[in-house]
Amino acid sequence: MPTAIIDGHTYEFRPGQTILEALRALGTDLPSACYDPRLEPYGACRLCLVEVEGRPFPVAACNTPLQVGMVVRTHTPALEDNRKHEFRFLLGRYPKEAPLRQPYQPFHRYLHEYGLTAASFPGDSRVELQAEPDPARQDFGHPYIRVDLSQCILCYRCVRICEDVQGQFVWQAFDREHQTHIAPSGPSLLESACVSCGACADTCPTGALDDWSVLELGTPTTWTRSTCPYCGVGCEFLVGTRQGRITQIKPALDAPVNKGHLCVKGRYAFEYNQSPDRITQPMIRRGGEWQTVSWEEALAFVVGELGRIRQTHGPDSIGILGSARATNEENYLAQKFARVVIGSNNVDCCARVCHAPSAEALKRVFGTGAATSAFDDIELAQTFLLAGTNATENHPVVGARIKQAKRRGAKLIVVDPRQTELARWADILLAPRPGTDIPLFHAMARVILEENLTDPAFLAERVEGFEAFRAAVEEWTPEHAAEVCGVSAEAIRQAARLYATHKPSICFHGLGLTEHHQGTEDVMALANLALLTGNVGKPGTGVNPLRGQNNVQGSAHMGCEPNTLTGSQPLAKARARFEQLWGCPLPTTKGLNLMQMLDAAREGALKALWLFGYDVLLSNPDAARTAQAFEKLELVVVQDLFMNESARLYGHVFLPAASNFEKDGTFMNSERRIQRIRQAVPPPGEARPDWQILCDVARAMGQGEHFAFEGPEVIWDEVRSVWPGGAGISYARLEQGGLQWPCPSLDHPGTPRLHAQSFPIGPKATLAAVSYLPSAEQPSAEYPFLLITGRTLYAFNAGTMTGRTRNTRLYPTDRLEVSPSDAERLGLREGERVRVRSPYGEARLPVHITQWVKPGELFSTFHDPEVFINRVTNPHRDRYTLTPEYKRTAVQLEKL
Ligand code: SF4
Repeated sequence: MPTAIIDGHTYEFRPGQTILEALRALGTDLPSACYDPRLEPYGACRLCLVEVEGRPFPVAACNTPLQVGMVVRTHTPALEDNRKHEFRFLLGRYPKEAPLRQPYQPFHRYLHEYGLTAASFPGDSRVELQAEPDPARQDFGHPYIRVDLSQCILCYRCVRICEDVQGQFVWQAFDREHQTHIAPSGPSLLESACVSCGACADTCPTGALDDWSVLELGTPTTWTRSTCPYCGVGCEFLVGTRQGRITQIKPALDAPVNKGHLCVKGRYAFEYNQSPDRITQPMIRRGGEWQTVSWEEALAFVVGELGRIRQTHGPDSIGILGSARATNEENYLAQKFARVVIGSNNVDCCARVCHAPSAEALKRVFGTGAATSAFDDIELAQTFLLAGTNATENHPVVGARIKQAKRRGAKLIVVDPRQTELARWADILLAPRPGTDIPLFHAMARVILEENLTDPAFLAERVEGFEAFRAAVEEWTPEHAAEVCGVSAEAIRQAARLYATHKPSICFHGLGLTEHHQGTEDVMALANLALLTGNVGKPGTGVNPLRGQNNVQGSAHMGCEPNTLTGSQPLAKARARFEQLWGCPLPTTKGLNLMQMLDAAREGALKALWLFGYDVLLSNPDAARTAQAFEKLELVVVQDLFMNESARLYGHVFLPAASNFEKDGTFMNSERRIQRIRQAVPPPGEARPDWQILCDVARAMGQGEHFAFEGPEVIWDEVRSVWPGGAGISYARLEQGGLQWPCPSLDHPGTPRLHAQSFPIGPKATLAAVSYLPSAEQPSAEYPFLLITGRTLYAFNAGTMTGRTRNTRLYPTDRLEVSPSDAERLGLREGERVRVRSPYGEARLPVHITQWVKPGELFSTFHDPEVFINRVTNPHRDRYTLTPEYKRTAVQLEKL
């Protein structure tokens, strides 16, 4: 390693390392105002000037790389004098109260260290540290960020981080009366294009932009590294706590997934954890009323009822649903509980209603039912094919990384019926009619074949089924597809050419592709494009589902599926091995998935359902049918943080669970990365971690020997023992950071990218010759609109968590997006309430008139229990996985 001398000490540096980076690594706190490791060095504030032997003038440490033999001095009297002078310059008209109110801010710490108070500048008219804040520059309207630009020292960090990390351009520099001012792009931060990611507040060195939570609750005294509980991106963050309460969350700067960034949910939406309506004691419903009971009584009730039902109706009359909110360890125990304690394969999770088609399709085509690539492939890709994913709202940090890639010159092809934010960044936008993705992808494939844009070497070595596939796509000329999809034939041709030639090309897809009656085949048709063009198994390529919830990938992968065991091992194949490892026989009857369980409940065959962190009633489509199922159940066990809608209306017993902030364990993100979550605060009242509750019930049901776990690490070690692909991922290794499976041994580095040399199914993958089948949901004279449902940036699924945070001030309720022409025809005005009705039910909500949706199509979010849009959605399902067709329901619209 090359060396330099810093303040008399020899320092080994890596090539390219700057002097300031070296000083930070050494723990030397050299003042700087404009430096942030997430941004390109700026060198503007001059606070970090250092002397370098042989240089005539001091240099900025933040943008000067170390060189071999360089001799650096950082705190000479001349430099310190110069620093005081620079501080004096920055302090012009600085409000006197700020350092007292926000002493924790780095700039204020420096003022204190350098003894720079108002008294330091007697008679210096250039420094007015006595100044009062300027009310015209204060903006206290944002629920999470306090703005007082009287404290702005023009370091430009907010401007740069908003542009370069979030790609949002909210903070801008304006010239006013020959002075530069920083201000948001709108009348206030709330009314600007701000997406409330908090990056500006995180980087601001003075507290001109600061978190309200810190000002209200105090600075954290303890920091705990953990993983975000919301979407499947899996950002790592630091949970700041004070007196057993979370007061701030900051992004982990070295996190490989989020690289020092978070979205509004991960950074700010943590108030749910300390919400006053947390259920903190077990409850049993008696005589129609919930009664608080002891854990002994609640567990005795659950054990007694499960025993009675199993005795009377058999083990297959009971179903267990794992949770994307729970850890891998807890989901592992949930499926083991179903199989070992209950004796049934009736176990599933919410992957059924989102990405089960992705897992099924990718398993069929490539052999592994998971994302082929790592998020770091985003920076390597030249072309993005984004299909049915509103990434900037639903996977915001990935969305931001894609926007950064676009700004660097990558091309975007966006396939979405609705104009999402990324659609507005697209080079080519394909807005097909909902549910017509197969004709679209087949037509792109046909263009690639016709114009010889395939990768012939890859096709020869790695792909089979070519002739059958060619025959399947033959009918899909761009003109034919254009008629079915409603996009132009020329746009299809351009998209095909761009994807096939501007390589490497990577696909990301979301529920817009999977939640259709041909969801599995939609993903297979997308994967065909990757195979044809050799865009898989190489840097910057792949086919990647963006998983909706933090641990939905893990929940299914741990075995919360009726036909697979831990590690997605098929039950039929792995049964004997698991029986040997677990030391007991496994049930032989075919298990039911979530949708089949609800069908069986309606028919009277399923009698009991145990739900973990999952509001099935609110989340499932065609809520009237879901309610019929719940009404028939003799036992509904709800294990959750809050009295959700399933519990409120149909629960028999409520077991209060610890949240993600209150327990240890692991989550698995969309790119197969397993990361630690760590307890930051104690559970409230008598709430317990899910793993502990499961072990308690198993013990009480006489199966304690199979559930003798003292904590998550021991459970995880059992997971590693039954899942060969995860054997190398120990807790000790996870202390150094997350690992992507397969990782079969302790010296294996993990696998960021799958299928580099071959596929698990063999040397070749087979092109999928799937056929297009129009949906049964067709608009009619009575139901002329097609309704699509989806998430928004500010709310998450059933709203159980985000609905108890200030995110409700940013997005108060669900709303129905209507095109301007439809609104005019129906005489609708912005915000007016409408009734939306389908053959399955109706809901009432306000309209938002926007060009984001096409005439004849509507879009609604689905988070507000008051609106309960799933009363309207249809009962149709994917042919392979039974995943509901949320993205296409024929409805009518009526002004109230
Ligand atoms: Fe959390 Fe997803 Fe936002 Fe990251 S992008 S902070 S994982 S919600």
